[in-house]
Amino acid sequence: MAETIFKKIIDGKIPCHKVYEDDHVLAFLDINPLSRGHTLVIPKEVAETLDHLSDESAAALGRVMPRICRAVMKVTGTSEYNILQNNGRGAHQAVFHVHFHIIPKPSASEGLEIGWPLGSLDSKTAETVAQQVKQQIAADRP
Ligand code: 5GP
Repeated sequence: MAETIFKKIIDGKIPCHKVYEDDHVLAFLDINPLSRGHTLVIPKEVAETLDHLSDESAAALGRVMPRICRAVMKVTGTSEYNILQNNGRGAHQAVFHVHFHIIPKPSASEGLEIGWPLGSLDSKTAETVAQQVKQQIAADRP
């Protein structure tokens, strides 16, 4: 797997505007922000997509995300924001190292715009899918 731009940032080979760092997590400003304060939060562990991340890194990210969100919202004077996490090229992932976007939504025309084509869930499909996912989760215990 080729080294990603985010791995280079973790290793200090290229600069970033860092806002937070601990043993497992790094957060810095996005170079092409959708709104002021757009921040990326990444694990130091190398993993392409979230499903490949260790429980330890996932826990470290989860522990600090609310704190970073609070700081970004306070500084930008925004109370609304989106968390975006893309996995795979078809899902708009451009950098193949797990990352969470924190994107302040100060107004309707700034920040993330989302298409949300509503489907409907019939009870037979819901039962089958829920059962299958439940079984997969049970089989995937750490
Ligand atoms: P993705 O589409 O993979 O979820 O988003 C990748 C994000 O990384 C984009 O928002 C892009 O602007 C950001 N990005 C790409 N290269 C760099 C870089 O070298 N430095 C910083 N700070 N952000 C980057």
